[in-house]
Amino acid sequence: MNELLDFDKSHIWHPYTSMIGPLPVYEVESAAGVRLRLADGRELIDGMSSWWAAIHGYNHPVLNRAVEEQLRKMAHVMFGGITHRPAVELAQILVELTPAPLQRVFLADSGSVAVEVAIKMAFQYWQARGQAGKNRLLTIRGGYHGDTFGAMAVCDPVNGMHHIFQGILPQHFFAPRPTCRYDEAWDEEDLTPFAEMLEQHHDQVAAVIMEPVVQGAGGMYFYHADYLAGVRALCDRFDVLLILDEIATGFGRSGTMFGCDHAGISPDIICLGKALTGGYMTLAATLATAEVADTISKGDPGLFMHGPTFMGNPLACAVSLASLRLLLDSPWQERLAVITEILSRELAPCQQVAGVADVRVLGAIGVVEMHEPVDVAAVQELFLEQGVWVRPFGRLIYIMPPYIISRTDLSRLARAIVTVVRTISSSA
Ligand SMILES: *Cc1c(COP(=O)(O)O)cnc(C)c1O
Repeated sequence: MNELLDFDKSHIWHPYTSMIGPLPVYEVESAAGVRLRLADGRELIDGMSSWWAAIHGYNHPVLNRAVEEQLRKMAHVMFGGITHRPAVELAQILVELTPAPLQRVFLADSGSVAVEVAIKMAFQYWQARGQAGKNRLLTIRGGYHGDTFGAMAVCDPVNGMHHIFQGILPQHFFAPRPTCRYDEAWDEEDLTPFAEMLEQHHDQVAAVIMEPVVQGAGGMYFYHADYLAGVRALCDRFDVLLILDEIATGFGRSGTMFGCDHAGISPDIICLGKALTGGYMTLAATLATAEVADTISKGDPGLFMHGPTFMGNPLACAVSLASLRLLLDSPWQERLAVITEILSRELAPCQQVAGVADVRVLGAIGVVEMHEPVDVAAVQELFLEQGVWVRPFGRLIYIMPPYIISRTDLSRLARAIVTVVRTISSSA
């Protein structure tokens, strides 16, 4: 074991890890295109886009240039009392790109914070309307919204990774996870439990919060778009705001620009993050309708009560702007369609493997759900032997590759998954 990994092992937390007997980590020295280069010289095809983010791949000349040019002007400046071109231009493009009613932009520093901001907006909105009793949220089971306290409180209470905090989290309402899958026939009945909960509790509910169509870290589950459309209609009927957490789905990942486009609806508040900067830097955004923002601003104390130190960081805004332009100038829909087609065809053999419970593909997301939780360290090592970077989670082996991946590299990723799934099933 080398010194660097030694120190890492003894002193550094990684996401969701133990400091005693931590799982192995691999040193990445550089990355370019869809390849991660390990310190030992091995090259891996990236199947993860660094958790939904690196949609254009790594070390992209256009994105590099955007950072370098902004760096020469200023890396950062406070956003209180100051504005700058990268933030304004980014806000312009976000207002244009998101559904029309979303007009007011809050630049946050991470996805979880964007969710906190959205929740706070919803509470301040109802306070401003003199209905402070509307101070709870309604969500569906199976969701994931981040790791901060407000966000944790609406993650799935069982598999949302935060059940140990249950006693100290605010208590919200949870409807069952939709059972109708994205590609199944729609059954109206699926919405009934949600509708009943909203009817019963709407006078306490400030907002419904959920991920549109794709539930990410809570289970990589794709539910029917008509469910989402039904939720929108019910929110209108019972006078409840709809917050859509598009942090994972935003910017094309599910095949449409936003998850809500599958249902042809628009939320009152949207949370964006992850792919927002093309994976270069941490940045998130919460957009609200003019009605929400103006109501908050007319209420007491007449301000929206949030303002992080690094709000609107110019480097992050500049690279985000470049990333969004790059996406819009690219044939991203055709690329996504090709990825969907290849993943659907080449992951299909997993369906025949004994240990596999389900195989599903939507947009540039491919999921193999096993019957049993996988041994993350062992499986990761098997993927390394195949020359790919795939990090499983619980019973899920999944990929969401950069959109620019070639057919050949994507096939290698898919074949690696088939091989590994067969290996672990036959040794189980
Ligand atoms: C990743 C994620 C978050 C949290 O974002 P962070 O940047 O990790 O704080 C919130 N919601 C969804 C849907 C996510 O996928």
